[in-house]
Amino acid sequence: MRSLLKRKLQRGIKWMVRCFYPFYLLIDFFRRREEVRILMYHKVSDLPPEREVPYCNVPIASFEAQMKFLAKSGLDVVTLDQVEGWLKGKGLGKARKKIVITFDDGFQDNYLHAAPILQRYRLPATFFMVTGAIGQDVPFNHLRWDAASLADRAAHPAHWLPLTRPMLLEMRAQGHAIGSHTRSHRSLAGLSRGEIWDEVAQSKKDLESQLETTMTAFSYPFGSAVYGDLNERTEEALREAGYRVACTTEWGSNKVGENSYRLKRIPVYDHDTLFDFRCKVIGAADWLGGLKDGWQKMFRRDDKVQFEPTSNIADCGLRNAE
Ligand SMILES: [Zn+2]
Repeated sequence: MRSLLKRKLQRGIKWMVRCFYPFYLLIDFFRRREEVRILMYHKVSDLPPEREVPYCNVPIASFEAQMKFLAKSGLDVVTLDQVEGWLKGKGLGKARKKIVITFDDGFQDNYLHAAPILQRYRLPATFFMVTGAIGQDVPFNHLRWDAASLADRAAHPAHWLPLTRPMLLEMRAQGHAIGSHTRSHRSLAGLSRGEIWDEVAQSKKDLESQLETTMTAFSYPFGSAVYGDLNERTEEALREAGYRVACTTEWGSNKVGENSYRLKRIPVYDHDTLFDFRCKVIGAADWLGGLKDGWQKMFRRDDKVQFEPTSNIADCGLRNAE
C-alpha cells in the first residue's frame, strides 16, 4: 500500500520536475558550479514493470538511450575513485561537472546487458560488489520477491545471480572500477564494532585478493543516514580500513569540498523517460532529495535489512515471497 502511494507520488511530481527543466538549464549555465553527479543503478534488464516490490531495474533500451545521451553530451564521465582528488579541489581542469555511473549489488545482468552498452559508448562505470556473494549460485540474500520477479527469476536465473570473478576481471579490463558493498549486504547501523569492521575491511581484502588490485570505493547497503545505515562509527571504520570515497543513497549532487564518505547519488528508475533522465543529470530533480528525507522521517523503512547472513540464501527469497 505504502509503495503504491510512493509510486503515485513519484508519478505526480514528475511533471513538476519536467516544468523546472528550462529554469535549471538557465541556473546551471549561470551558476557554473563544480560538482560531481553520481547516478545510481542496480539492474539493467527487460523485467516486467515494477509494481509493489521495487526491483531497481532499468530496461535495456532505456539504459542504452541514457548512455547514448551521456556520450554525446560532452559531460566528463569518470569512475568514482577518479573524483576523490577532484572533490578536494585538486586538478579541476576545464570540466566543472563530473558524472559517475554506479551499480550496486553486482547482478550478472550488469555484465550481460550494461557492460556491452557501456563499452559501445566508451563510458566507465563503478560496480559495487557484495563480496560474500561473488560467484555464488544463489540469488542475493537481501532481495524481496513478488510474483513477477519470481517468474522472471525462473525464466532468466542468470539475471538474478551475483557476478563471478571472471566477469569482474573482464569488466575491470574494460576500464570499469570495482568497489565494496560489504560482505553480506546488512545495514551497518545495527552491527557491533567488530561486525562493522568485518563487513568493511574484510570485503576490501576479499576484492583486493580476488582482483589483485587496491580498492578504495565503498557503497553503504541501504545507504540512508535518516534510517541510520551510516554514521560517525561507520565513517571511522571506512577511513581506518583505507577507503577514500563512499556513496550513500541520499539524493543530490556533491560539491567540491564536501565529505567524500557521504556522497549523494541520483537514482535512475524503471519508469524514467529519457527526458526525465536529462532532468536528473542537469539537476532539475535535486529538490526531490528533501522530499525523500521527509518521507523517511515520516515512515518506517520497509527494506529487508534483517536476514540470515550466509546459510539460507536460496530459500530466504522464496520464504519471503510466501
Ligand atoms: Zn545494495
